[in-house]
Amino acid sequence: MDCIFCKIIQGEIPSVKVYEDDKVFAFMDINPLSSGHTLVIPRTHAENIFEISEQDATAVIKAVKMLSTAIKKGIQADGINILQLNGKAAGQLVPHLHVHIIPRWIGDGITISHWPMKAGDMKEIAGAAEKIKAEL
Ligand code: 5GP
Ligand code: ZN
Repeated sequence: MDCIFCKIIQGEIPSVKVYEDDKVFAFMDINPLSSGHTLVIPRTHAENIFEISEQDATAVIKAVKMLSTAIKKGIQADGINILQLNGKAAGQLVPHLHVHIIPRWIGDGITISHWPMKAGDMKEIAGAAEKIKAEL
């Protein structure tokens, strides 16, 4: 399969690995948003949150929790952003599910954690909730 993250897992493309187990692989992002920016991926190829198995999703989130603690301590971060993009519309560039762990510091100037806050229309909010609940 022509997937760069599958090739990283196979060792066909070099990476700076920080962790691996039977389900998960974690390595440093090549374009770090901040020092310590790490990517966590499932070994089994899944493009996005809709495709990944529950077992692999569980393994990924467990690794994200464990690595976030190590990254916060090791890099001495003030905080951590956890980011995961699904689909082109959401800005996903690499079509192999990955979770970004991004260390943050007070006043670091990175602008990914805030968007313009504007009060929503309560009818639209409640209508959206009904549409979601109808699919559960
Ligand atoms: P996203 O798909 O969530 O927008 O981001 C993909 C991420 O993968 C980017 O942050 C990018 O820097 C990272 N990335 C893309 N290609 C490689 C690569 O070959 N090696 C590593 N280590 N990271 C990569
Ligand atoms: Zn892949």
